[in-house]
Amino acid sequence: GTILVNDQFLDRVNGTVDIEDRGYQFGDGVYEVVRVYGGKMFTAEEHLTRLFESAEKIFLKLPFTLEELTARLEKLMDDNQLDTGIIYLQVTRGASSRQHHFPQEQNAVLTAYTKEVARPVKDMSAGVKAITTPDVRWLRCDIKSLNLLGNLLAKQEAVSKGGFEAILHRDETVTEGSSSNIFIISNNTMYTHPATNLILNGITRREILKHCANIGLQVAERPFTLDELKNADEAFMASTTAEVMPLTSINDELIANGAPGNWTRKLQEAFETGVEKECGA
Ligand code: PMP
Repeated sequence: GTILVNDQFLDRVNGTVDIEDRGYQFGDGVYEVVRVYGGKMFTAEEHLTRLFESAEKIFLKLPFTLEELTARLEKLMDDNQLDTGIIYLQVTRGASSRQHHFPQEQNAVLTAYTKEVARPVKDMSAGVKAITTPDVRWLRCDIKSLNLLGNLLAKQEAVSKGGFEAILHRDETVTEGSSSNIFIISNNTMYTHPATNLILNGITRREILKHCANIGLQVAERPFTLDELKNADEAFMASTTAEVMPLTSINDELIANGAPGNWTRKLQEAFETGVEKECGA
């Protein structure tokens, strides 16, 4: 397939990375994953705005505008005839002789590619299992950084135990998932961690918060505990690729009766309607 390197559209085999690229050596860069439905990007502006914000937080100046980036991604999608899938894009601080401090001249390197990815309809219908594990990551989880080792170790622990997601907690407080935001519903109120430095403010999370008012679900953006999670009426995770994904057991203990909850179903429908409105898929 065709990939994007800065402003060049290349065949994938012709894409190269300098062995001293700071993204490769240090994880010194930021990234985004955008969902594509029926050949159209969903919430592209939100994702690309977040990319610019993440870049600014690490003092990385992006050598293109949001409009230029959008145009390149549109072309990348078209060249690959992507229908339903994702666009992965990242920007690193580029190549320089290895040193921790930033090089005088920063040559940011943008790369992007597309991938066909089906919507996880079976899991969304049946729900998935999660485990809990301590959140040992740093204190700037609001940055969508390439440094994902803390997330990877947590996800690996979940998968090795037959789970779909690892729910992270600092002391008794649930922060987010290893690659998702986490929500519970109890007594007809939805709780999710506020958008602080301890979580990534998911674009899917923001969509969900918008839909709550329309379906008559009360919202409290306040941290909840492991105990509240265990005893919740409903629980779900949310991300660009997993959408609104019901959690039916945690550490092998069922949430309520172990079936996806009614409010979760309503949010799935509302989310899907939002996708249809924007992408006509
Ligand atoms: N938190 C983390 C740590 C993530 O990796 C992700 C997915 N990239 C999310 C939350 C969800 O963000 P989004 O809805 O924008 O995909």
